[in-house]
Amino acid sequence: MKSILFAKNISELFFQLKSNKELTVVGGCTQIDDLLEKSISTHGIAELSQITRHERFLDAGPGATLAQILAIGQNHLPGVLYDALISIANPIIRNMATIGGNICTEGHRHTLYAPLLALDTKLELKSQTETKVEPLQNFKKVPEGFILSNIRIPLLFPEVSIFRRIGPEHTITPHSASFVFLGDTERNSLIDVRLAFAGPFVFRSRTLENAIIGHRLPLTKKDIDEIQVMVEREFQKAATDQMISDVVRQQFLNLTRYSFEQLT
Ligand SMILES: Cc1cc2nc3c(=O)[nH]c(=O)nc-3n(C[C@H](O)[C@H](O)[C@H](O)COP(=O)(O)OP(=O)(O)OC[C@H]3O[C@@H](n4cnc5c(N)ncnc54)[C@H](O)[C@@H]3O)c2cc1C
Repeated sequence: MKSILFAKNISELFFQLKSNKELTVVGGCTQIDDLLEKSISTHGIAELSQITRHERFLDAGPGATLAQILAIGQNHLPGVLYDALISIANPIIRNMATIGGNICTEGHRHTLYAPLLALDTKLELKSQTETKVEPLQNFKKVPEGFILSNIRIPLLFPEVSIFRRIGPEHTITPHSASFVFLGDTERNSLIDVRLAFAGPFVFRSRTLENAIIGHRLPLTKKDIDEIQVMVEREFQKAATDQMISDVVRQQFLNLTRYSFEQLT
């Protein structure tokens, strides 16, 4: 028989994990098709489900539900994060689905991945004896013996903020991906640019972004054509040997051009 265990606090969760090597850490189980024999949920453990809003960032426990984060309100969340959250599934699923589950699902990256990546989110990973912090940019999977224990999301509100889903709405299929563009300007100059894509693989290139930052505004058609060539080259490198259709690739490039056109 399959069972989901609940723990009162984080020490009890680690105690359970230590005593039962087969236990898997889960959130709301909305992603898992075939539940493993024994799981233990982060949801309901206060230390792992809290959301704390600081001046410059948000700390969300992995067990916080998508609905709880949305409840912070559109004006208090980065636009791309709010738009991504509201695009996921439906209100019933969002009441159960956790942010930890959205990040930790292996393989195809889910809807929150690109917004969190563009915002420079940091993950806290905990084992019974160790805590480490890792930028989402370097994250591959939760290491053996660790759980995702906190998600620190910078609260950025840049001038241009674009989130788009590629593929079907409100569900995840092999054709799903997320696109994010953030752009900030100061005195007719581009001072920050972030471009992120996540789905069949993850793409964000600081080298590319640094090459674009500093452009005088408004961007001309020639500027955008040149930027587009650089983006295409970098994206192509990342996409080599990845499962990505020509349609998704083209959509990414169209969205990139559209985003830079907002700065003309
Ligand atoms: C009808 C429907 C529509 C959906 N639409 C979307 C959509 O549009 N976009 C989207 O992104 N998703 C969608 N989903 C998938 C899913 O609901 C979400 O991705 C959700 O955020 C997953 O969270 P969860 O808590 O249910 O994860 P779970 O199913 O509980 O876990 C997912 C994975 O993460 C691991 N995990 C969870 N928490 C931790 C932790 N703290 N430490 C280590 N590992 C952990 C689990 O072991 C598991 O491998 C949809 C699902 C359904 C049923």
